[in-house]
Amino acid sequence: MKTKLMEQIMLKEEDKIFKNLYNNLGWTLEESLKRSDWSNTKDIISKGREWIINEIKTSELRGRGGAGFPTGVKWSFAPKKVGSRPHYLVINADESEPGTCKDRDIMRFEPQKLIEGCLITSFAVNAHTCYIYIRGEYFNEGRRLQKAIDEAYEKKFIGKNACNSGWDLDIHIHFGAGAYICGEETALLESLEGNKGQPRLKPPFPALVGLYGCPTIVNNVETIAVVPTILRKGAKWFASIGRPKNTGTKIFCISGNVNNPCNVEEEMGISLKELVEKHAGGVTGGWKNLQAIIPGGSSMPLIPKETCETIKMDFDSLIAAKSGLGTAGVVVINKDQDIVKCMARIAKFYKHESCGQCTPCREGSGWMWRILERTAKGEATFKDIDLLSDVTKQIEGHTICAFGEGSAWPVQGLLRHFRKEIDKRCFSEPLIKKKRDIPYLVDQHLLEK
Ligand code: SF4
Repeated sequence: MKTKLMEQIMLKEEDKIFKNLYNNLGWTLEESLKRSDWSNTKDIISKGREWIINEIKTSELRGRGGAGFPTGVKWSFAPKKVGSRPHYLVINADESEPGTCKDRDIMRFEPQKLIEGCLITSFAVNAHTCYIYIRGEYFNEGRRLQKAIDEAYEKKFIGKNACNSGWDLDIHIHFGAGAYICGEETALLESLEGNKGQPRLKPPFPALVGLYGCPTIVNNVETIAVVPTILRKGAKWFASIGRPKNTGTKIFCISGNVNNPCNVEEEMGISLKELVEKHAGGVTGGWKNLQAIIPGGSSMPLIPKETCETIKMDFDSLIAAKSGLGTAGVVVINKDQDIVKCMARIAKFYKHESCGQCTPCREGSGWMWRILERTAKGEATFKDIDLLSDVTKQIEGHTICAFGEGSAWPVQGLLRHFRKEIDKRCFSEPLIKKKRDIPYLVDQHLLEK
């Protein structure tokens, strides 16, 4: 029997872009052709780069890598004419955000969508060379993608005179070495050039000064993989899904305390509750056992249960709730978890992954981790928590790249929504002295709590 929840709006099967998300239809080129990949690529290219960029602008596609920047606008930043420097397209496949594994499934199950998207985008931004920067841990996915690229070369879909379009394109895969920060576009470019993967100061932006100092467009895997379908079905079709400025379909990755962790393509703006209850089999222990959800990968602030009841999963709704869609990595935390420990674990990750260039990030990420560890163990003072809050603000907005915010926001989310729970574990200054000197008293104190 259908529940009320099941009767809510669902993405229609025909509107799904990634029909082989669960590999039940096969990933090879032959099987991809049956799903209309490469069906009229030459015609699309023949409409010209201005038409392509305008269509993508009209579709209101926003980058699927985390920042949500309008894709068509980004492409339009590339110089219209190629000067003395070649243009590049770089695909960011360094999917390292904890809780996120959507690009992985695109690369292994729908690689031709990505490759076709690379060709069309490269043409639109005047690039004859495309690099796919893939995280080193995705070794098997990288090998699968290489096979798919080889198949596309054999069929002359890419290479010289790709798809008989008159456009030449070469695609190269480059494996990263596992640093989270290489998912930041300028760190990625540094790494691709063979340097230490550390973010660059912006401006200049990569669209003008990117790889090897040349104009470069950097886009996420999912962003590029949806481009051919948008151009085939029309910008208006894509824009009709979701709501204005938050259009189209999106792959959500649902993990944590759910009965059925999964990746699912759904309409942008689907309710978070529906996503968890319908697709992920519900919260472990039932919805009433929910404590909080991280809606967009570990760098986004968590949202408490009350907000989870009604929030819509799109860029603007989540910003309004002081969180963010990020990579759409939905991590469910139920009441069986110690929320402070969870955040301390995330803080440790960011401390480890800071590239170390900026003092607020390098030092502050360690401070946040240590204070959260003390808090989790019941050893923090009220002053520590004030300091923790202060450190997050000292980091936010004072660093070269958005990693600073990414490390501070989860802690801010914890403080915003769980301050009472944190305070219950804290001691005033005099008590901590006793605690450190006489552990027995601490235990007594904790028992009283
Ligand atoms: Fe490196 Fe952190 Fe500064 Fe980004 S914010 S450049 S990761 S130190």
